[in-house]
Amino acid sequence: MNRNDHYPFINTPLPYSYDALEPFIDEKTMCLHHDRHLRTYIANLNRFLEENPSLQKFSLEELLSMWRCLPCQLQAPLRNNAGGVYNHRFYFNSMKGPDIPCAAPNLFEAMTVQFGSQENFRAQFKEAALSAFGSGYAWLVLDRGCLRIVTSANQNTPLTCSRTLILNIDMWEHAYYLKHYNLRAAYIDDWFRVVNWGMAEERFMGMNL
Ligand code: MN
Repeated sequence: MNRNDHYPFINTPLPYSYDALEPFIDEKTMCLHHDRHLRTYIANLNRFLEENPSLQKFSLEELLSMWRCLPCQLQAPLRNNAGGVYNHRFYFNSMKGPDIPCAAPNLFEAMTVQFGSQENFRAQFKEAALSAFGSGYAWLVLDRGCLRIVTSANQNTPLTCSRTLILNIDMWEHAYYLKHYNLRAAYIDDWFRVVNWGMAEERFMGMNL
């Protein structure tokens, strides 16, 4: 795993080519999303940390765990920019080419117990993602031993000490608008075709913390 999780952050390449998710997520969207949107969050986070050197020693996850304890004027820029970096890296790492096989036997078994079936999980996840009004994310998290589907607005991250994050889908328009226009449900269906279930299984099993 890349340990580029301290200041100064750099925009490391995607773990696959820009066109690897075609035809479900298009190359141009991936170029713009990674090279412009994520790069901007990284530049803004580095600029914020240049101005606040006492925070430079903390990792991304530490910054996201502590923002509530900081002075008021620092909270929003830290939450937005550190969250923007964390959420995007998590999202990009949660996908893979559609033809690459991967398995998640333990996670799928837990999903079946928690949601009744894979189909039920997908339906509930899709409903949650569609319900995220405006810009945000839907997440699958492991919370005190239970799988839960949650949403977060803007660049908020549902990190708490009791939660392990398993999957997220970016529901900002820039994640899908070039290909799917306003058809958010079609984007979610396509995203399911490129989910890296192997990565989700590693996170579920605590192998990727
Ligand atoms: Mn995004």
